[in-house]
Amino acid sequence: MIIMKFGGSSVKDAERIKYVTKLVLERLNQKPVLVFSAMGKTTDKLLALGAEALTGKTDYSELKEYHWQVCEDLKVKPKELDSMFTELGELLRGIALIKELSPKTKDYLVSFGERLSVRIISAYLDGLGQKVNYFDGWDAGIVTNSNFTEAEILSCSYNNIYEKLGNLDNSYDFIPVVTGFIAKDKNGNITTFGRGGSDLTASVLGAALKVAEIQVWKDVDGILTTDPRIVSRAKPVPNISFEEAAELAYFGAKVLHPLSIQPAMAHGIPVRVKNSYNPDHPGTIIIGTTVASEGLVKAITCKRKVTVVDLTSTRMLGQHGFLAQVFKIFSEAEISVDMVATSEVSVSVTLNNRTNIDDIKNKLEEFSEVHVEHNKAILSLIGDITRSSEMLDSVFSILRKNDINVQMISQGASKVNIGFIVEDTEVERCVNELHLHFFEMQDKTE
Ligand code: ASP
Ligand code: MG
Repeated sequence: MIIMKFGGSSVKDAERIKYVTKLVLERLNQKPVLVFSAMGKTTDKLLALGAEALTGKTDYSELKEYHWQVCEDLKVKPKELDSMFTELGELLRGIALIKELSPKTKDYLVSFGERLSVRIISAYLDGLGQKVNYFDGWDAGIVTNSNFTEAEILSCSYNNIYEKLGNLDNSYDFIPVVTGFIAKDKNGNITTFGRGGSDLTASVLGAALKVAEIQVWKDVDGILTTDPRIVSRAKPVPNISFEEAAELAYFGAKVLHPLSIQPAMAHGIPVRVKNSYNPDHPGTIIIGTTVASEGLVKAITCKRKVTVVDLTSTRMLGQHGFLAQVFKIFSEAEISVDMVATSEVSVSVTLNNRTNIDDIKNKLEEFSEVHVEHNKAILSLIGDITRSSEMLDSVFSILRKNDINVQMISQGASKVNIGFIVEDTEVERCVNELHLHFFEMQDKTE
């Protein structure tokens, strides 16, 4: 068994749906379980409809026509669609009436996207003569807590999923098609995992069903060595560990969210990122343990527009509790800190630029000198940190040659990430030079 998951842009119109179903049919011998997101920008549109309903407008005809048009192009007429649109209309009128759109209602509202897409795609597969069964997340056995819009999956889901879908393996005579992104809590309320949550569905199903591989189909050849908008020569990384992939996701490579692959990681199931526009390319495989790579560095990422806060306090000298005090202030303000570097009398941290820091600045100034700088960027090198001196040596010589100043360095506890801060305006130049050195020089000399 494998999982094949396709996101919204892969199923945005009839042409793309025909194309991805072809990819599926070519892999039937691997017994795929399919996971789909809502078609195109449907989730955004549903949220916009919810906001409009608050102002009294409940016209959803555009969304309805979009879905029916795709059905027409696919020559299918899924039987539940009419009643689902009636239900959506009632929900919007309900929102308009009580002028309230709670997180719970929002989840109910956006769930229509995935529920519609699996019904349409299943009808199409059915029309092609395939036996299919579609499952809403809850019918596939996924149960969450009641943290609406960011619900977490409960561990009982694993057994549930296995009971619903696991014993298919031997007597497999239909293609299971499951909604991404949505589930229910124990009280039967619809919940969602947060935006982009369909990857999590794929990961949980894969873990519960102990599949050979979870395939997440995107529109790039896997996880790239760096952001292709910065370096057009970026190329796919053939394999990467979960730990490395998680570092990548935190630091700006928007291919997969680390939380979404956690269930797969915990159960030792490999996740493969594949390109639906280039299906023969092997993509990137993410596995539990680090595979020794040819080079020192696997990928370079950057997180732009960050703020650096430097705190200095002579009282820190020989004091305990200083850092605790600092972090308590950030934590109370619900501000997350990305990078930290400390010395005997100072500590530097990075925050997102958009963070309004005036408030906390006052609090921090009660016991330290505070210096704030905006428009910085964190560059991170993901790779073999057992060779960190070698890595840093290269980094520094490249940056020195290019007159680029480094403000702060930190080596992550996860042992796979070295980060440093530069001016945001220097990012393009920096990343290009580093990419040239770590990924292109060898190619040239080989
Ligand atoms: N449809 C949801 C979203 O747009 C979930 C997903 O695409 O993964 O966020
Ligand atoms: Mg989507």
